[in-house]
Amino acid sequence: MTAPVADMAQAVRTVREAVRRHSVRFERAIPLIASENLLSPYAKELLISDFHSRYAEGVPGERYYEGNEQVDEVENLCLDLARRLFGASFADVRPISGTVANLAILKALADPGDPVGTCRLADGAHISSAAFGAFGLRAVKPVYYGWDLDRMTIDVEKTRTILKEARPRLCLFGLSLFLFPLPIRELAATLDEIGAVGWYDGAHVLGLIAGGEFQDPLREGCRVISGSTHKTLPGPQHGILLGDRLAPEQEKRLRSGAFPGVTSNHHLHTMAALAVSLAEHLAFGAAYARATIANAQALAQALHERGFDVLAPNLGFTRSHTTAVRVTREGGGEAVARRLAAVDIITNKNLLPGNTSSKHPDGIRLGTPEVTRVGMGKAEMVRIAELMDGLLHRDRAPATIAEEVHELKRPFTTLRYCFAEGEAAYRYYDLVGRDP
Ligand SMILES: *Cc1c(COP(=O)(O)O)cnc(C)c1O
Repeated sequence: MTAPVADMAQAVRTVREAVRRHSVRFERAIPLIASENLLSPYAKELLISDFHSRYAEGVPGERYYEGNEQVDEVENLCLDLARRLFGASFADVRPISGTVANLAILKALADPGDPVGTCRLADGAHISSAAFGAFGLRAVKPVYYGWDLDRMTIDVEKTRTILKEARPRLCLFGLSLFLFPLPIRELAATLDEIGAVGWYDGAHVLGLIAGGEFQDPLREGCRVISGSTHKTLPGPQHGILLGDRLAPEQEKRLRSGAFPGVTSNHHLHTMAALAVSLAEHLAFGAAYARATIANAQALAQALHERGFDVLAPNLGFTRSHTTAVRVTREGGGEAVARRLAAVDIITNKNLLPGNTSSKHPDGIRLGTPEVTRVGMGKAEMVRIAELMDGLLHRDRAPATIAEEVHELKRPFTTLRYCFAEGEAAYRYYDLVGRDP
């Protein structure tokens, strides 16, 4: 099958032009997706390095292909930095995403048919723990914890009873709407009593944990952590496994869960970018984590003061990078997220506790990782709340709001909390130059 060269050159131009328009839009926008972040210049340049073109199956020093000397050097350093950043005795940086890391753990530490503890999707759990997600793929049976609506976290007493009854081998703690730390310390004795391994999915909060600003799951009773490396940890799209107090047999099973369980090659260019991001987080992560959480709290407070139904006002709204708003009065999560996107405030509709329809949920989720990374602070959070209030409560013209969004963003398009601070955050890399 061949096609005319001119048509295919047009296809290439179309892709380049769409990516350029996307980059320009995000440079002008206020992205508030809680799971997104920006990559530092030193990490980003590795994505187009020759590492991208290579294979390195196995572990450093025991590869199946030749030519991996420098890959091994980088991967060993990446593993050292990961263990150091999280105070972990075990790390594996081969899972290529958070979901893939979760599958590696399910393969290593559970068998089909096993009960595995988790939260419900409506209480904030990730699709990994759904029947149509990773849990279903491994055919494990979810055992749902109790949820305390007033405290927006796991209900310890109810969950102790549930765990003693169902006796899962593996207990997952982790959320995608992650406002408050989970009571792992309180449940640790129960996990020991039933012989369950505590597993923390830190996809959303790894950067906060590493910065010392959230709970420390390996010290509180979990033995293994999975996560994405591109949310509050501002690294490349990749995954990670971390562990402590694991038996040698468990470490071996986790390694083989990662490879050959759920990967063959493991995306060496993103692994190298991860090594840089881990080093940068060791240097700058504590300040970044503090600022990210302070911004989430300031945004929540400012929205609350403007009549938005921000969740958990009695608890200070949030202790993470995320805040959640019930927007039933403003038209529901779907309509509100669309209206905000039309003025370049980028959010997502989100299930809130008690919701059943993920297509028409009551909430929107707002995250501050990206706006913090470009240097925004409390004054800008208040301004974002004003713009949302103007659009959703005061009927101000969307075109005017959009202009004010772009105005607010204009001084904030370079990176902070990394080496080469001040470099462009959203630059469109014009690699080849001319269009074909
Ligand atoms: C985002 C997320 C994941 C999945 O991460 P990907 O890297 O997108 O595969 C897993 N678990 C939780 C709790 C998440 O929020």
